[in-house]
Amino acid sequence: MNIPLNKMENLKVKIFNSPEDMQKFSISEKLNGKKISFVPTMGYLHEGHLSLMREGKKYGDILVISIFVNPTQFGPNEDLNRYPRDFEGDLKKCESVGVDAIFYPTNENMYNKDFQTYVEVKKVTQNLCGLSRPIHFRGVATVVAKLFNIVQPDYAFFGEKDFQQLVVIKQMVKDLNFPIEIIGCPIVREHDGLAMSSRNAYLNDEERKQALCLYKSILKVKELFHNGIKNSKKLIDEAVKIIKSHPLAEIDYVKIVDINTMEDIEGEINKDALYALAVKIGKTRLIDNCKLLINKEA
Ligand code: AMP
Repeated sequence: MNIPLNKMENLKVKIFNSPEDMQKFSISEKLNGKKISFVPTMGYLHEGHLSLMREGKKYGDILVISIFVNPTQFGPNEDLNRYPRDFEGDLKKCESVGVDAIFYPTNENMYNKDFQTYVEVKKVTQNLCGLSRPIHFRGVATVVAKLFNIVQPDYAFFGEKDFQQLVVIKQMVKDLNFPIEIIGCPIVREHDGLAMSSRNAYLNDEERKQALCLYKSILKVKELFHNGIKNSKKLIDEAVKIIKSHPLAEIDYVKIVDINTMEDIEGEINKDALYALAVKIGKTRLIDNCKLLINKEA
């Protein structure tokens, strides 16, 4: 554990490494009548994360965040080992938004050698990211269930950037009766439209330019949809055309799905939908999405 102790003087934010200490803190705050807002993250914080935290401040009395790069949600050939980390920078950002406590566990104190219990959300995990990352949502649901038990939040905040994840967590909370309100927060973008992501740090200059193809496809799909084109295949074809005009882009999926079930919509879109895509730019896999709402402006 490399907490930079020399930098920790005068910090207002409390840092807990052990689940037991974190849980004790939360329980004592709750016994004092305090409501807890919680933002789970994998660190390397950016404005997207901070927007969730600012929302959290509006709800609870105490704001807890977690920083944990969860190994069980990464496949064997994914970027677990090179995932960007900057605990010192994260600390400063947490202080700037008034985080009260950071849960910053080690792999060992989250998953002991005898660990053998997993949470599987069956249906909404099947499509989209579940197709190319088969163990991903099992890892996400498991770690979030653990984090909920450790942090004991009243409110938990998730970004719509990972829309399917938000749907999976809502389903888990409903199915397993967690007494927690899940709040989805809008996607925060860079000035040119690229969705903020810790993984954007992997992109070189040329890749960064071509990464804009995801957002360009979103703008096109939205424009066509609002101009009355409701045929799913037509919209996807136009989106794919844009993405394929970027030589460094390799499509994982480009889909239009039911916003609740995450099932593909074929043919006409006559219910609220989500345009969702995952595209590799060089070696970096990026995701993005936008809502296609039938009765409202998306
Ligand atoms: P991560 O650290 O990537 O696991 O993300 C932690 C939380 O921040 C998740 O709920 C994400 O959906 C959310 N998040 C990440 N990027 C953004 C963004 N650009 N806008 C809004 N929320 C985001």
